[in-house]
Amino acid sequence: MTDPVATAPVPRASVLQIAAYVGGEHKLPGVNRVIKLSSNEGAFGPPPGAIAAFTKVAAEIHRYPDGGSVELRRALGARYGLDADRIVCGTGSDELITHLCHIYGGAGTDILMSMHGFTMYQIAGTYAGSRVIKVPEQNLTTDVDAMLAAVTPETTIVFVAHPNNPTGSLLPQSELRRLRDGLPAHVLLAIDSAYAEYVEAAEYDAGAALVDAGDNTIMLRTFSKVFGLGGMRVGWAYGPAAVIDAINRVRGVFNVNIAAQAAALAALAEPGWVEKCRAHNTEWRAKLAAAITAAGVKVWPTEGNFLLTDFGTAERAKAADAHLRSHGIIVRAMASYDLPQCLRITVGTAEECGLVADAVAGFMRSQA
Ligand SMILES: *Cc1c(COP(=O)(O)O)cnc(C)c1O
Repeated sequence: MTDPVATAPVPRASVLQIAAYVGGEHKLPGVNRVIKLSSNEGAFGPPPGAIAAFTKVAAEIHRYPDGGSVELRRALGARYGLDADRIVCGTGSDELITHLCHIYGGAGTDILMSMHGFTMYQIAGTYAGSRVIKVPEQNLTTDVDAMLAAVTPETTIVFVAHPNNPTGSLLPQSELRRLRDGLPAHVLLAIDSAYAEYVEAAEYDAGAALVDAGDNTIMLRTFSKVFGLGGMRVGWAYGPAAVIDAINRVRGVFNVNIAAQAAALAALAEPGWVEKCRAHNTEWRAKLAAAITAAGVKVWPTEGNFLLTDFGTAERAKAADAHLRSHGIIVRAMASYDLPQCLRITVGTAEECGLVADAVAGFMRSQA
């Protein structure tokens, strides 16, 4: 209801319920060399071919981009063995998450996510006017039984990050399938596999198999993590024709800009890039986890390019964060994820891993 006596524009009440997303910080006052391990951006920067493609496209930026991202969708289809007609690209996967919530959510609907799931689901779902329900987890992992028990006749979307950010946890493939099988057919299961390329678990499928098995599952992917293009804002989704069609009706007509399409295409074509990044991550994820564990800090198992470290209390996590900052290292505080005792640390270069491990060890010694 609009208020006839309001003297200024009034947002819908649900908009004011949203706590604005706080991204990873990137500056520390008075520190020259900042080591930024707060946004899971990947250890190696952008692929060289993507930088070259970005530079090359500069003289053409007066042109509108291809609104259908046709070449990029074809390249994605070829690389992953998917039907390019059932792929849609977005201004980051964030844009696609927002559209899904508006398309299938809205007043009178429920959107489900796990307790420590990715914050964008809560922001986008609330913006759409849905009730966003955070379902309790087991061991910081999605609990399929709890998720199914939370389904109501009003439920329209279930979001699962696979693996999840910020916990790093991965639902076994059989459990993800059990979740899909247990959901009513009209409920969309959105599998967000932003970190798919880093997963080493044997039976892992990023979501395409479940997409193909029915008409009610969508897979979300991004160029922001392993492909090193977070600043370009490119994500994509693969889903049932009807779901992709709905997104295409409402998305920004020129959502993926001309430089972003060029850079993403080149990143996909970069020889050996994903293999190199995955090998580095697998090695240093383990080494960093071992070093932090040896320093006396609990590290949760992770399939991503980041570690969730648990300092036991919120006070100690805050003190550790301050100590790391004093060494020029920015990691991600987790209070907004209801994990105030934790810090999330991105796996960086070998040198960065060494520096953050030393700083954590130094902090723990100071606490002894
Ligand atoms: C980083 C991340 C994304 C990617 O977002 P973009 O908008 O594509 O940059 C999506 N989901 C999760 C869980 C993430 O951590």
